[in-house]
Order: sequence, then structure tokens, then C-alpha cells
Amino acid sequence: MDRGDGHVPFWRSLQLKFVLAYLAVIAAVVVLLNTYPVLVSQDLVYQSKHTSMLNQAAVIASALSGPDALTEGGAAQTIQALGAVRATRMVITDPSGVVLYDVHEGTRREDTLGRYAMIWELTTALEGNDVFRSEYREGAFRSRAAVPVTYRGMTMGAVYLYEYDAQQGALLLGIQSNLRSISLFICLLAAGLGLLFSRALTRRMGALLRAIRVVREGEYSHRLPTAGGDEMTLLAEEFNALTGRLQTTEEVRRRFVSDASHELKTPLASIRLLTDSILQAEHMDEQTAREFLADIGEEAERLTRITEKLLTLTRVDTAPPAAAEPVDLGAVVEKVEHMLTPLAGAVPVELRLFLDPDCRVLATWDDLYQVVFNLMENAVKYNRPGGLVLVTLAVRGGQVILRVEDTGVGIPEEDMPKIFDRFYRVDKARSRAAGGTGLGLSIVRDTARLHGGSVSASRRAEGGTCFEVVFPRWTQRGGEPE
Ligand code: ADP
Repeated sequence: MDRGDGHVPFWRSLQLKFVLAYLAVIAAVVVLLNTYPVLVSQDLVYQSKHTSMLNQAAVIASALSGPDALTEGGAAQTIQALGAVRATRMVITDPSGVVLYDVHEGTRREDTLGRYAMIWELTTALEGNDVFRSEYREGAFRSRAAVPVTYRGMTMGAVYLYEYDAQQGALLLGIQSNLRSISLFICLLAAGLGLLFSRALTRRMGALLRAIRVVREGEYSHRLPTAGGDEMTLLAEEFNALTGRLQTTEEVRRRFVSDASHELKTPLASIRLLTDSILQAEHMDEQTAREFLADIGEEAERLTRITEKLLTLTRVDTAPPAAAEPVDLGAVVEKVEHMLTPLAGAVPVELRLFLDPDCRVLATWDDLYQVVFNLMENAVKYNRPGGLVLVTLAVRGGQVILRVEDTGVGIPEEDMPKIFDRFYRVDKARSRAAGGTGLGLSIVRDTARLHGGSVSASRRAEGGTCFEVVFPRWTQRGGEPE
């Protein structure tokens, strides 16, 4: 499925999920904010009314506790003697529930006197129980308390108090409306911030997505802005670094392909030219024809060398470092010396070796042979007649150091950083004449790296060049340095 221009529908978008999650949290906070404090306040008011009203009723009941207090006159007298009673209504009854005293908002009611008080609380109190009930309704607390009046263990009557408290209710209503305003403000602020934040986030993610698509289409120079300093910035920086690497790799690949085709084109052009000359010449003598054919053979050989080296490079680039085993680097050097003796004799150049024993490296014989051969062959090829090639192999710490020095033509300082590049040659003519391809040192560097090593070159003070290759040393004890 091509997700090329994939567009996420809003109902599946991260933005919606984010806003919904945000709203859910806000809703929970708002519900909690609007219920918990109000419930706690109601409870507090209930508790305080419970204590104060039952206490008041008990005080009145104890004042009425006597042989003659519970008559219409006695009750009125006792209440008067007690002073202010803080209640909206107060009813006192005899043991059978007949009203002896009834006052409502400071005014005595005569209409209920002598009648049965049909109040549940009073009936319960006459059974010997203290009763308290309070409810919060329409912005007011309505509380009822009733206690029995006892004398010598007998229930002589009951006192009932009713209080309508709009003041506390108003206070609670005030708290409620304040909380509502605060909640509304929090909701608006949170929703606004959430929207703003999620928009900013999705916008930046959108930019990243677009950038990825642009790069996927091959536009490797595309970069993202890296302002902000948050995780998205980190992501953008990583993206830029990744694209940077891709760009470099792509450039190297392009240059390599163009260099390689250029290198292959030259011998092919020579072959073409030589064959044309043979074909077009009407009467070419055998000697000249043989010379031309020998030249064609040489160019073909050159092509073979280049393709072989290119194949080696591709193998080093792509192959896993398989089948690595401890290889004695000293033995490799001796083998290369043996192979190069005829070439060294032709220049002539003296090959001198100083090899420490037991310089083993975890690699493959062929790879190490490539490294040593390329370096020693260069040291011979770019040497002067009567020159010297000095190869030393030594152990330093946990490393094996291979040094190939020569007394040859040397490498100019400005070329030093480029000699390991593919197809780079300091003296093209000399390299060509010596059968060079400009790939030898690239192979040395890549192969050394493949086996955890590194290579460096320096100019010798007394003339010539010194190449140094460093490998981790392999030892019996799990490859650890001794
Ligand atoms: P080539 O196949 O041309 O030898 P290399 O990659 O082995 O390619 O080397 C790259 C270039 O570095 C050579 O063309 C040569 O100019 C220079 N070079 C390499 N080794 C030496 C050396 N020992 N002395 C002088 N120049 C060297």
C-alpha cells in the first residue's frame, strides 16, 4: 500500500486523541472541584448543627425536668427564664404529645395548644430517643432536633426545635458559584492551551512528515528548523543528521560511480583506438600489428586490475566480517616480501623486515594480505633505484603496529589528506606507468577498519613516506590484551 500522501482523518488524529484526553482530565477535575468541597462544607454544617441543636434541646429539656414544669404556664415560664432560644420554631409537648408551648419566629401560637403535635421527631422523642435531622434544600439548611424531657427516669414530655438557616445556605451557595466560575475559567484556559499545544505539536509533526517525504523523493539537502529545545527539536536534529549522512553517502556514491566509469573508459578508449588502427591499416606489417595487440592486452589487463579492485572494495563495503580467525601478521609480511622480491629486484629496492613474534590479529588471511601487499607494493613502486623499504611489526599495549617506510618520492603535504580517497593518485602518470589504479589505499583503509584497525600516513623527515596500520592484538585469553 502506498502511504505516499497518506492523510490521517481527524477522528483518528493524534490531535483529537490529545484534546479528548485533555478534556477527560479537565472534566474529572471540574466534577471533583464542584462536588467535594461542597459536600465537605455541607457535612461540616450538619455536624455543627447536630451538636448545637441537640445541646440546646437538652438544656431546655433539663430546665423543664421537674414535677410541675410541664404545664402550659410552667413551660412558658421556664422558657422565659431561659432567655433567648435560637430556633425558628419550638414546640413542647406533654408525654402524650399534646402541645403545651409553641413559638414560631418569636410569636407564640395559640392555635396548636392542646392539640396533638403531628411531628415525627416529637413522636420519636417521646419514645425516649434524641432525634436530629437536617437537609439542605433550595439554598437553606432545614434542621430539626427533638429530645425527651425526663424526670426520675420517666418521659414527661418532649422538646422540638426547628431551624431554617438561609445564612449558612447562602454561604454554601456562594462557595458553589465561586467554584463554578473558577471551573469555567480553568476549562476555558485548559481547552485553549490544549488546543494551542496540540496544534503546535501536530504542526511540527506535519513538518517532519513532509520533510521525510521530500527526502524520500531524493531531495537530500532538505533540512528542518531546530528551534525550541524540546523532544521535537531533538527529533528534527536527528532527522537533519540522518539526512546529512544520506547526502554524504549519496555524494560519495555518485562520485565513485563517475570516477569508476571514467577509469574504465580510458583503457576501453585505448582498446577501441588500437583495434580501429589495425582494422583501418591496409597493409600493416606483422611487427606493428603485434605491438598494437600487446598494447590491447595491457589495457585489458588494466581493466581486469581495476574491476578486481572494485570488486574487493565492494566486498569490504558489504560483506560481514565473516570467518575471522587469529592470523599471524608476521607470516603475511614474509609471504608478501616473497611475492614482491622480483619487483623489488627490478627497481632495484632493498626490502628489510623487523618482525616481532606472535603479532596475531583477528581477521582473514586474504584481507591482511591485501593490506600488507598494497602498502609494500606502493613502497616499492614509488621508490627510487637503490632505495630501501623498511617493514617493522611490533606489539604496543594491546595493539599490533605494522609500519611500512620507504625512501621513495614521498607525498606532498597537500595531497596527504586525499591519498586514501578512491581513485586518488598524486602522480597520475607514474601511477599509470606502475600499473596503479588509485584504489589500493582505499582498500587498505576499508579492510583495516573492517577488522577494527586504522591506518595513517606521514612524511618521513629524511624523505619518503611512512604508513602505519594499527590492529587490536589477538591473544589466547579471549583476545584480551595481555
Ligand atoms: P595506486 O594504485 O595508484 O598506487 P593507491 O591508492 O595505492 O593507488 O595510492 C594512491 C596514490 O598515493 C598513488 O597514486 C601515489 O601517488 C601515492 N602513494 C601511495 N603510496 C605511496 C608511497 N609509498 N610513496 C609515494 N606515494 C605513494
